[in-house]
Amino acid sequence: MKAFRLSALLLAVLLLAGCAPKTYTSTFFAMDTVMELTAYGSGGDEALADAQALVEELDRLLSVTGEDSEIRAANRGETVLLSDSTADLLSLALGLCADTRGALDVTIYPVVRAWGFTTGQYQVPDSGTLSALLDSVDYTQVVVESGALTLPGGVELDLGSVAKGYTGDRIMSIFQEAGLTSAKITLGGNVQVLGNKPDGSPWRVGIRDPGSDGYAFVVEVTDRAVVTSGGYERYFEQDGVRYWHIIDPATGCPARSGLVSVTIISQSGVLADALSTALFVMGAEQAADYWRARDDFDFILIGEDGSVTITEGIEDSFSFSGDWENHSLEVIRR
Ligand code: ADP
Ligand code: MG
Repeated sequence: MKAFRLSALLLAVLLLAGCAPKTYTSTFFAMDTVMELTAYGSGGDEALADAQALVEELDRLLSVTGEDSEIRAANRGETVLLSDSTADLLSLALGLCADTRGALDVTIYPVVRAWGFTTGQYQVPDSGTLSALLDSVDYTQVVVESGALTLPGGVELDLGSVAKGYTGDRIMSIFQEAGLTSAKITLGGNVQVLGNKPDGSPWRVGIRDPGSDGYAFVVEVTDRAVVTSGGYERYFEQDGVRYWHIIDPATGCPARSGLVSVTIISQSGVLADALSTALFVMGAEQAADYWRARDDFDFILIGEDGSVTITEGIEDSFSFSGDWENHSLEVIRR
């Protein structure tokens, strides 16, 4: 109580003195996307520089195409002694592939390439091509032994579905170690926040309307990652059918689970990133079962029919915005 009164007093003094904490922002391009980091308070400038250096290091190690990428070297058949970061992320990712029973599969890369999502030269592969490629899609073939990774012939890794989420977690650690208490980062579509806004209120994160440039919802969050996978992010159309970049590893085709957007809200960025992809593959019913089996995330699903489903943990912090106001909502409970 005393501490509360003291900090309330301190806050009042700061407000009266007009001492809003200093704001530091850095914007740069990495991991194929625009990253924007904002940190508040003393030490924010150095923390941002450290964070950017870390992002560049992770990008270098994890990229599927980069010259000195460990992933690229492994994909070419080399035995690679993994850095701590790559080993750490790979082990987290393989754990999530198993936990989602392969809805997330970090060896889907050859299939993603066959559809042209790696180059933009889109095409619908024939079923023979797909079934041949699917023979080598199997995350259980990825084994790290004494810190070294050797992939069996035909197997290729792509940590793109989890790299930004993992990077967000690592940045949050840097910020915490620097003693920061308020920060927000946007890594492509991934948002992750430390603490609350400098004024003490929760961060407000907007989630895209799949059919426009506007927002469909807002969630208020503290110490959370908010990650969305959408069928509207990267896709092509052929003969009136839309093909998007989230692939069902069971079929080798774009996941048609009835969902067009999956947002995961979690303290863990890597979990949020992995599950935004995996639950998109699973569909609403399996997603709800999966949520009931864990207690470390919430979700927002948008169905192809426009239906919106959220889990009870974010009921009080969720609101519709713009054209979506008065939209109906289903809340999943345990
Ligand atoms: P983005 O990278 O656009 O933010 P995601 O985090 O959903 O989106 O990751 C999608 C990327 O992951 C795709 O571009 C593809 O390379 C890869 N991918 C697609 N389907 C799967 C899957 N089922 N499991 C693992 N990775 C996938
Ligand atoms: Mg993802």
